[in-house]
Amino acid sequence: MYGFMGKILVIDLTSRTTTILEKSETFYKTYLGGSFLAAKLFADAIEDLEQPTPFAPANPIVFATGPLAGARVCGSTRVNVLSLSPETAGIFTSQGGGEFGPDIKRAGFDALVITGAAATPVYLDIQNDRVVFADAAALWGLDRRQAYDRLNANAPGNVSIATIGPAGENKVRHANIMFEPDHYAGRGGLGAVMGAKNLKAIRIGGDHPVVFKDAETVKAVNKTGATIFAASFEKNPGGFLGVLKTYGTFGLLLLNQDVGNLPVTNFNRAQVDDENFETAVSHAQIGETTVGRRNPCKGCYLGCKKKSAADLEHTALAEYESMALLGPNLGITDLAQAMEFSESCNLLGMDTISTGALISYLMDGFANGDLDEAKLGFAIRFGEGAKVRDLIRMIAYREGKIGNLLADGVDACRRVLGPAADRHLRFAKGMGLPAHLPRVKPGIGFGYLHGPNPGDHMKAEHDWIASSPGDLKAFNITATSDAFALDRVKVAVYRATQIYYAAMDSLSLCMFIFGPGNILGYDDIVKMVNAATGFNYSFEDLMRIGKQAVQLQRKLYCAFGGTDEDLLPYMETPIPDGPSAGNRISREDFATARDHYYTLWGWDTGDRP
Ligand code: SF4
Repeated sequence: MYGFMGKILVIDLTSRTTTILEKSETFYKTYLGGSFLAAKLFADAIEDLEQPTPFAPANPIVFATGPLAGARVCGSTRVNVLSLSPETAGIFTSQGGGEFGPDIKRAGFDALVITGAAATPVYLDIQNDRVVFADAAALWGLDRRQAYDRLNANAPGNVSIATIGPAGENKVRHANIMFEPDHYAGRGGLGAVMGAKNLKAIRIGGDHPVVFKDAETVKAVNKTGATIFAASFEKNPGGFLGVLKTYGTFGLLLLNQDVGNLPVTNFNRAQVDDENFETAVSHAQIGETTVGRRNPCKGCYLGCKKKSAADLEHTALAEYESMALLGPNLGITDLAQAMEFSESCNLLGMDTISTGALISYLMDGFANGDLDEAKLGFAIRFGEGAKVRDLIRMIAYREGKIGNLLADGVDACRRVLGPAADRHLRFAKGMGLPAHLPRVKPGIGFGYLHGPNPGDHMKAEHDWIASSPGDLKAFNITATSDAFALDRVKVAVYRATQIYYAAMDSLSLCMFIFGPGNILGYDDIVKMVNAATGFNYSFEDLMRIGKQAVQLQRKLYCAFGGTDEDLLPYMETPIPDGPSAGNRISREDFATARDHYYTLWGWDTGDRP
């Protein structure tokens, strides 16, 4: 078998036993890897059990790689994590960077399936097929960096490490998982699933070679990608990919500020109206003061991951989503403060997007008199950075009434805080909305409102593609749609790219490299996958796999009670000012779009929540 190790490692934390499942080439031809493989393994692991809840020992958590992991191909090192989400009612899958994916392969496996729960804190030490259930008492309570440093200091060789922070230990519902350091499976609260299992960390490595059918062709296509990227960077260094290379995703702050696509004061506005902020986020300014050296996933020629110039040894440069949700979204325009909040969430192990959305919901509620300070014993207003700093810590450690409440997620908040504040929620089925505004990008915003993976901006291409006929040809779509429209064409485009993204996610690939129109063409990707695996896929085959992957994940999402979100009332209100002033989503357009989407998928019977 090429590109796959043919084995899945199943670990039961309750009984401290392991099982190795051998899988056939036919199995991998069907499920490939990444999120599709993870969904299949999850479904198999729960087959004979009563439906588990996210924190039940019976809830499996799966870490799955793709067939290109280990090939040193740009964008191929990522790993997919899937489990029942403590934030939504269904399953959720999150993709993280670093070398954890390739190290699962070097240990001899394509995926890890972890079930059960340890009686006391443990970490898993996996070297080839030797699994040690190691005592993690000395690691429990450490932040992600401290835990990583301890485990790395006495590592037996080249290893990758996944850890959770105190938030995961405390089952904060939006806790994340960190991969050796500065990479995250950030969304869906999967760090809290590890915490519920008393699993502080996984250290993994080995010396199994990963064999590819035609390694030379894989290398050659990768080299083609590097050449295409270098030429396009030279031609347009200020374009999307150029900005990513030079400034990391941090650089998107300026692009989104310029076009009015930035969440400001709980998504109520779309641009910061402050010249000082404009100057601070200008690329000349951040290039000089903020962005340090590159810190890419191995083999990546784009290298969107950066160090912070403030602390090159310890601090990853905050990503766009983190800066936006913990900065302007909270009425905070001091970049240094937003970076501090991002780093604090990272150290404590919490998703920055849902953290920002929870805090801005409170701020908006107090600003409009819909929350009662006397009842809560706490109040916070837009721009109150000192209180944000306190609140982040209080959530992670479940301190006080308010910290504990926010740690329990948005449904708990609604129950306790009452319906008057509901209009300030910027959540889709429990997931905080990301920093690409639904009123500016109604196609991706429409996607936020649907499972599986509600509130996820990385599950389909963004709206620009609907106006780009050349990029739509491969999906057999000839019509185009306006950037700000939510019409039938936009929905068809959303669905087609959702399927394509699901195929790429089943290969555990980075969407900055493999997303439509980014670097490699569709033919190049097919050629590379076939060279790695020896399969004889066509583009249509990959799309068929993507479609099956979405259907399986949707089925699992709905099976555990996952439903779709209604249009949020604020989305009907026009953006008040700035370059995107007047943009809104009408209820009529939304209803038509949803109906069309369900019809295209055939979700008109039991699958329609
Ligand atoms: S573009 Fe960024 S996230 Fe993607 S592989 Fe490269 S460094 Fe990693």
